[in-house]
Amino acid sequence: PMTERAMHSYDPQNIFARILRGEIPNKTVLETPHTLAFHDIHPQAPIHVLVIPKGPYVTYDHFAAEASDAEIVDFTRAVNQVCELVGVRPGDGLGGYRLISNAGEAGVQEVPHLHVHVMGGRVLGRMVSKP
Ligand code: AMP
Repeated sequence: PMTERAMHSYDPQNIFARILRGEIPNKTVLETPHTLAFHDIHPQAPIHVLVIPKGPYVTYDHFAAEASDAEIVDFTRAVNQVCELVGVRPGDGLGGYRLISNAGEAGVQEVPHLHVHVMGGRVLGRMVSKP
């Protein structure tokens, strides 16, 4: 079985680490002390924003287990601010959204830095599809 360390080993060359270091550009929606939100480069919906912690966390479970209370509160509140900024709160026009955080192999995670996808602006269909 994988060790805790191997499960959570963070690759500092992943593309979101490079965005956080300013090495590649992004279309920022929101920056807070512990969180960055930016538009997905290949949007799957009219609104598709990625919310990432600035700290080196690979997956949601890693963040939930090891991040500080301040980071967790900041990240959670940032998701709310993004919903407000991009106008997907339920009740505003075609409001509503889906949050997705893919992790590991079964989750088909491509970038090994925690990100929550905030998607909306169209009716998204139900849940997940088969491969
Ligand atoms: P996942 O499959 O959940 O790991 O999703 C990774 C997401 O990152 C995909 O939706 C990509 O389109 C997106 N992505 C990859 N590179 C960039 C980038 N440079 N800027 C913004 N989004 C990106």
